[in-house]
Amino acid sequence: MNKIEHIGVAVRSLSLSIPLFEKLLGTPCYKTEFVLSEKVNTAFFKTGESKIELLESMEPDGVISNFVEKNGEGMHHIAFEVDDLQAEIERLKAEGFKFINEEPKRGADNKMVCFLHPKTTNGMLVEICQQVLPAQ
Ligand code: ZN
Repeated sequence: MNKIEHIGVAVRSLSLSIPLFEKLLGTPCYKTEFVLSEKVNTAFFKTGESKIELLESMEPDGVISNFVEKNGEGMHHIAFEVDDLQAEIERLKAEGFKFINEEPKRGADNKMVCFLHPKTTNGMLVEICQQVLPAQ
């Protein structure tokens, strides 16, 4: 895996959390994007080589709203960038890791993404992602 691409943070409200993270990181939010596949609104900040991704649920029973309901706001997942997502999926499967979605899906910020099951990663939700061309 190349680097930590971003850290995902679950929040209740982007409109409250964007100014908070702008103050915290000392850098403006450079992008907001609705991700249809997850029904979440996202906001991105650059921090050196990596990014912070804020996630706000757009549906009451979505993954992010369930997470915030259970755990409160906070760190949700860590995303590693890879050059060849399919090869990395095969490698991790051969090592015995389980996936939430083995079939890569479209994530935010021009990425194809897969999530590993936290049961096989010491409770840490891990995303692996590969840069792709912008959606039409
Ligand atoms: Zn992510």
